[in-house]
Amino acid sequence: MLRISRCTVNPSMRAVFGVRCMSSAMAKATQGGVTSYWTQAEISEIYHTPLMELVHQAQLQHRRFHNPREVQLCTLLNIKTGGCSEDCGYCAQSSRYDTGVKAEKMVDIETVMAKARQARANGSTRFCMGAAWREMKGRKSAMKRIGEMVTRINDELGMETCVTLGMIDEAQARQLAAAGLTAYNHNIDTSREHYPNVITTRSFDDRLNTIKNVADAGIKVCTGGILGLGETEQDHVSFLHTLATMTPHPESLPINRLVPIKGTPVEATMATLVDQTRKLSFDAILRTIATARLIMPQSIVRLAAGRYTMKEPEQFLCFMAGCNAIFTGERMLTTMCSGWDEDKQMLEKWGMTPMAPAPAPPQQPVRQPVRRAPQPQPEAVVM
Ligand code: SF4
Repeated sequence: MLRISRCTVNPSMRAVFGVRCMSSAMAKATQGGVTSYWTQAEISEIYHTPLMELVHQAQLQHRRFHNPREVQLCTLLNIKTGGCSEDCGYCAQSSRYDTGVKAEKMVDIETVMAKARQARANGSTRFCMGAAWREMKGRKSAMKRIGEMVTRINDELGMETCVTLGMIDEAQARQLAAAGLTAYNHNIDTSREHYPNVITTRSFDDRLNTIKNVADAGIKVCTGGILGLGETEQDHVSFLHTLATMTPHPESLPINRLVPIKGTPVEATMATLVDQTRKLSFDAILRTIATARLIMPQSIVRLAAGRYTMKEPEQFLCFMAGCNAIFTGERMLTTMCSGWDEDKQMLEKWGMTPMAPAPAPPQQPVRQPVRRAPQPQPEAVVM
């Protein structure tokens, strides 16, 4: 049953103009301020709002918290490709799958700086660096070099920095914070329930633990997932619930659309899947983005891998639903990426401008640790 918040519109006017009153969950999202107290039922209610209304409300929410003209341009560089020991079922860089990606050594610092300069010259304000590793344990010299990269990109180019290096412990997170890292990316990937169908070599809770270490060190958390891994809409709700019950919400929330890679188990599964409810529709992407915007209104919602597979009107709808960041540049790890010129033209056409970089982080981290909010009881029906 749809729970309805207090509606002040005269019933006869509702009938004449087709005015719909908001569900209580939608009212909570749009009128109740930022909160980490969400039930899956509330998130499901928002997710299943009629699509026109959902996108409309998400756009209004977006305008309450962000400049709707601004979009953050980020560029991602793979600083260490392939040879990863993990078994993430979608990934071209896992050494367990025959995807044609060869293991390479870590890129040297001058190459990284040249790529960062190129990104900045093209309007990117955030530079992200990814390494195909399970974790940073035992990688002292790599940690040191990555710290140098972060510091130089901050100091010489004034860009925000983000790295994704696999699992890190508390000391490693503090080391990256001391180097001036803006954000650390560690995706939860999908729902807790669907997760074991995709990855077995590290648990969902391992991921949450790294996220906690990052936040405790005062680094902004970048975490999101991949849509199209054979999950259901309920998995989208559960995935969003994990993110929205973090305190604080992730600063950055990447939404990736699966790019199926030949040789990976997910590609094989999706190619033969008969259960239509597990095939990703564009509507489901839009619902996930709009719901994220409504329940995590301050987060930067980042349209990440797979954007190049979307037609321009589809991307436009993602922005209408609350996206305000894109990856742009030459590559998106091992997949293609829409280029700077193409993106600049598209955004200019829509009247959008690149977001300025955030101020440098404070010397002494002051951020509150990420913790899961206790869950409230379902609300009573309110008419
Ligand atoms: S997603 Fe990351 S951790 Fe998983 S296999 Fe690929 S590189 Fe390794």
